[in-house]
Amino acid sequence: MPSDHDVDHERLAEAIADITSETRGMTERGEAKLEGADLDAFGIAVLTKDGRMLAEGDADALFPIQSISKVFSLTLALEKHSNAVWKRVGREPSGDPYNSIMDLEHHEGIPRNPFINAGALVVVDMLIEGVSGDEPPEFVRRRLEETLGETLSLDDGIVRSEEKGYVNRALANLAKSFDNLQHEVDAVMAEYVRQCAIRLSCRQLAKAGRYLMLEQMGDDLTAREVRRARRLNALMLTCGHYDGSGNFAFRVGLPSKSGVAGAILAVAPNIASIAVWSPGLDENGNSLVGTHALEMLSEKMGWSIFGASGVSLDEE
Ligand code: GLU
Repeated sequence: MPSDHDVDHERLAEAIADITSETRGMTERGEAKLEGADLDAFGIAVLTKDGRMLAEGDADALFPIQSISKVFSLTLALEKHSNAVWKRVGREPSGDPYNSIMDLEHHEGIPRNPFINAGALVVVDMLIEGVSGDEPPEFVRRRLEETLGETLSLDDGIVRSEEKGYVNRALANLAKSFDNLQHEVDAVMAEYVRQCAIRLSCRQLAKAGRYLMLEQMGDDLTAREVRRARRLNALMLTCGHYDGSGNFAFRVGLPSKSGVAGAILAVAPNIASIAVWSPGLDENGNSLVGTHALEMLSEKMGWSIFGASGVSLDEE
């Protein structure tokens, strides 16, 4: 597998330009979940390990990160509770829709993984432990603001519409009935919807994901952080794309997490942190154009964690 020393920035810039022009020509663009979203929008940003950022298209447009926030909240919960997190949430792909109630009932209140909604709600419950006051602490926004050194805003429409979140509330109530939620459902939901509503651009998202690509000691990380990043990557690969995770690993071969607003954060370990955004979704709720773009990038650069194929997409 290539290391950071192998990143040829000229080749990478060419690849990104090719991908951007090819994705512009794609006629199949999926369907956006958010009303009024521009199906033609496409942004890509790649931050390589040496700190260089290459970006194209709508790389500065803002979108709500939605489920990608689940990676950041899990990181914070692991920092706070370490392995105790795994007593309350599993690490297996679910094979069921991301908001399945049946799945949670079947597993007696222990969500299959932290990236389905039930899992993320339980993770948020752990995160807000010990917090006093009525205002949601917005842990993920605070961490991202610290990382990026910028003030971030929320998509107020999402906060308003998702705070009702009947299915998510049902999941939280069910988890509570199994004693796997300590706080009131309202408090958990208030924090959860605010992390989903955080607005970032592709450039900001690639920067925010930088810690996930660093896998060697000496990359300003402690041994514990290196191990945590490796484990987060494993979960992103196996559970990061709802019940399309297997297909995504097959096509792209990079640990990644998608969100329902059409963004994907992908990690080429020890090489790059990548963000793409295009609002049209495929049947599993993953960005259709974004997945295609990552598939091309991974092929062109030989970045799949399963080995550098160097085979062009047209050959098969
Ligand atoms: N806020 C959305 C929900 O809770 C997140 C969906 C997603 O991006 O998967 O349903």
